[in-house]
Amino acid sequence: MPDIYIAKTLLHEAFHAYMFGLRYGNVQPLQVGTPIEDFGTLFKKCEAIYGYDQAGHNIMADKDINFMKTELIKYFHSYSNYNSIINNLNNSGNAGWSDENQFVDMLAWSGLQETNSWKETKGKDSLYMKQFNYFNLFKTISKKYLPKTKCIIK
Ligand SMILES: [Zn+2]
Repeated sequence: MPDIYIAKTLLHEAFHAYMFGLRYGNVQPLQVGTPIEDFGTLFKKCEAIYGYDQAGHNIMADKDINFMKTELIKYFHSYSNYNSIINNLNNSGNAGWSDENQFVDMLAWSGLQETNSWKETKGKDSLYMKQFNYFNLFKTISKKYLPKTKCIIK
């Protein structure tokens, strides 16, 4: 698994955990991402409409997506062989997929397709949807070029 996908998943799940802490625990709000004003009330309202999981996803899509994209771009740029990755992606025959902003946008949005924000913006954009539908294919192709992390159990 390319480690940028693991980074994306960790960011996504960290926001779930953070929201859980804000909603049910004594977690103090950070000055990033998810709203800090009366989060409990906001979450309960969303939960009543969408259920627990989708409440979190809707808040993530509305409040945290730009933070996630910014952090994923930083991660992408941290690769020491960044230029070679871009060259390999350029030569992979998948036009457009060497655009790092588009790449992290789709990475950040994956898992949030049931949200209102997705349905009202990305989901209505036929070009974006066409490109997003290539995303799974791209994920498979890009596995060849992106650095990987192996889980080693001794
Ligand atoms: Zn989730």
